[in-house]
Amino acid sequence: MKGPPSRWKFVIERVWQCPVCKKRAKTSGSVVNQACACQPGQTTWMRLVEDPTAKAPTPDPVNPSKTESPSAHQ
Ligand SMILES: [Zn+2]
Repeated sequence: MKGPPSRWKFVIERVWQCPVCKKRAKTSGSVVNQACACQPGQTTWMRLVEDPTAKAPTPDPVNPSKTESPSAHQ
């Protein structure tokens, strides 16, 4: 039995979006700052956009169940 070649490379991608021109750019995870050149003479820093495909699991709402102690205060 021959398994598939496990050449999975964990590539971290970051999606940036310029708040001015709404242009998006993808970089690797090592990039921490991404500038957009839409405004000449001014550095416009792009903002990090969450990847819509990577949905965070919605945590269950914590329902504090009332712990009824049998011997409540009188
Ligand atoms: Zn821009």
